[in-house]
Amino acid sequence: MFETSIAGSLPKPEWLAETQKLWPQWRAEGEALRQAKADATLLWVKTQEDAGVDIIGDGEQARQHFVHGFLEQVEGIDFVNKVKMGIRNNRYDAMVPQVVAPLRLKGRVHAFEAQLARAHTQRKLKFTLPGPMTIVDTVADRFYGEGEEGRIKMAFAFAELLNQEALALQADGVDIIQFDEPAFNVYLDAAADWGVKALERAAQGLTCTTAVHICYGYGIQANIDWKQSLGEEWRQYEKVFPALAKSSIQQVSLECFQSHVPMDLMALLQGKDVLVGVIDVASDVVETPQQVADTIGKALQFVPKARLQPCTNCGLAPMSRAVAEAKLKALVEGAALARQRYA
Ligand SMILES: [Zn+2]
Repeated sequence: MFETSIAGSLPKPEWLAETQKLWPQWRAEGEALRQAKADATLLWVKTQEDAGVDIIGDGEQARQHFVHGFLEQVEGIDFVNKVKMGIRNNRYDAMVPQVVAPLRLKGRVHAFEAQLARAHTQRKLKFTLPGPMTIVDTVADRFYGEGEEGRIKMAFAFAELLNQEALALQADGVDIIQFDEPAFNVYLDAAADWGVKALERAAQGLTCTTAVHICYGYGIQANIDWKQSLGEEWRQYEKVFPALAKSSIQQVSLECFQSHVPMDLMALLQGKDVLVGVIDVASDVVETPQQVADTIGKALQFVPKARLQPCTNCGLAPMSRAVAEAKLKALVEGAALARQRYA
């Protein structure tokens, strides 16, 4: 009961990449970089295990960014000529590569770190991939055409590639494949209309557990400012949860603690495992086990005990290592306290 996991990313050690940045520069290249990525992956597998986290991730140590790490292995994308694009409905600008030709995988994307993590933990292993709609929102297009029709075409093209990699990750021994779709909280109608279908295409044929993570973004200033503009009640989830409840995706990871998401929206996810965000990623203040258990207790009004899994609100990538480690411990201790309280 109350199996713990993280949403996905963890801070990169300072010997691997620049710290506390969303698109950090690597500190090495070639074989030295490969070794550093491997070392960092193992470090976080061990740190999660030592903290007592039940479901382990690779911490996304081998990718620069959760979307562009995937795109680097896709043919048909021009990474040399990046352009500035407003992403998440112009919430912030990013330098993004451009789609210029039909999309095809160059080969495996995440075999190295997935197989490495699998070889070094006996616990369940979760692996994250960007969702199709979020990819479309983090790349410029010069091939699929203008407007919504072009976006949909491109999303389904990416969904096919994601599916290839997801099936291969499953064969590597990954237990849970999670697609990250923060864009679902931004393009609400499109998410319910075609975003969930594109997501199902990405998960087609998987027999391992499937999950989707939908959040209000990393704890960076642009997101913190955006959240302040969303008012007293954040009802974005209300649009997409009914479509997800009807979908084949089995788990939904959502933002909860310190957010203005009304708890009762979780009741829209009947039949799904709900990964409740009990750890805030927008603050360095470390949660107490009591706070974590309290959040779990409130969520239990709307999610059955057997379906509730405590998680982080989002990835911890831009935080300091020390804070991230303390938050992992708080997550585990809070879940343990909740087991005593609500068993
Ligand atoms: Zn997130």
